[in-house]
Amino acid sequence: MREFDGALKDLKANNLLRKLVIVGSSQNSKAHIFIDRLRYVNFSSNDYLGLSEHPGIVRAAVNALKKYGFGSGASRLLSGTYLPHKELEDRIARFKKTGAALIFNSGYAANTGIIPAIAGTETVVFSDELNHASIVDGIRLSRAGSKIYKHKDMDHLESLLKIPARKKLIITDTVFSMDGDIAPLKDLYSLSKKYNAMLMIDDAHGTGVLGKTGRGALEHFGIRAADIIQMGTFSKAFGCVGGFAAGSRTLINLLINRARSFIYSTSLPPAAAGAAVKAVDIVDSQSLSRRKKLWNNRERLASGLQSLGYDTLASETPIVPIFAGDVKTALRMGKYLYKQKIFVPAIRPPTVPEGKCRIRFSVTSAHTNEDIDAVLKCLSGFKGC
Ligand code: PMP
Repeated sequence: MREFDGALKDLKANNLLRKLVIVGSSQNSKAHIFIDRLRYVNFSSNDYLGLSEHPGIVRAAVNALKKYGFGSGASRLLSGTYLPHKELEDRIARFKKTGAALIFNSGYAANTGIIPAIAGTETVVFSDELNHASIVDGIRLSRAGSKIYKHKDMDHLESLLKIPARKKLIITDTVFSMDGDIAPLKDLYSLSKKYNAMLMIDDAHGTGVLGKTGRGALEHFGIRAADIIQMGTFSKAFGCVGGFAAGSRTLINLLINRARSFIYSTSLPPAAAGAAVKAVDIVDSQSLSRRKKLWNNRERLASGLQSLGYDTLASETPIVPIFAGDVKTALRMGKYLYKQKIFVPAIRPPTVPEGKCRIRFSVTSAHTNEDIDAVLKCLSGFKGC
């Protein structure tokens, strides 16, 4: 125990200790939350389309809850697949235009299940240096060799791809979760073809957000390729919970047999799957105006921050960071915003590299112009960044 105390003290001394904030629920839209009974504008949620409280989704969850109860009992290979699981897989495969899909309990479980199932000791995985932690952990679990290429640097990637390997796998986030920029998928796909490598994309922040109809990064780039392994989550733009893999039927059959986070874990509650089916329906058929609002909000915030002189890094999506640099500045900025009733996280190592701390705004369609203007007004008075 003394060892644990010591580790916690070290974190505290370096301003890296994290604590949980208790959010009291409210009937307001997700753009506002209550903490200690005080109302904050929330810029920390990835509920991009404001769907987490959508009445249709809540109703779908309640209906499935009444029919199936809450817990699913065991892993699907043991206790079977409930109808909502199957419906969700068919629905998300149709949305992503792939032959099949498999759902996981979270996006994290998807990445840590998919990667070791498709890569092993005979594989070299090529991974962008800013890929999400769940990809990093999936690669570690796979025991594949790994080569980390400089962020979005295709020349660097190509130089690494030249090394001989029996199997090669390139993995990238589509939208980078702490920087909000978009991976060059056309170039990545060409390189994967040139060097006979598989390509896997993590479209967690692209799904529902990118593309004319919200289908994600492949739609954004106009890429139609059945051989790209797609991963995503229901926890962000869909406003639900759970992750998925989408690809060919063969890929999905392999994952059912090999992905350990799927095989050895109790499946999603059927109610969660039922809610997500409805969420995919809504994103597919009724999300245009929400997405429009989302992107307008994103522009208002990003251009407003830039005209105040803030560095929004390479952001080009609703993830809008402002650069702070060291831990102390980021915390000071976060506290300043918090005092003005704006809830937005300061991002510190290990989530971002040393010296690259930031405040990370996550804009949603539920924010109003007034919410965004409140941030801009507040930050116009911040001294010392
Ligand atoms: N991939 C990326 C790029 C993410 O940002 C996240 C969530 N932060 C995940 C995967 C994990 O998804 P989930 O929260 O559904 O576990």
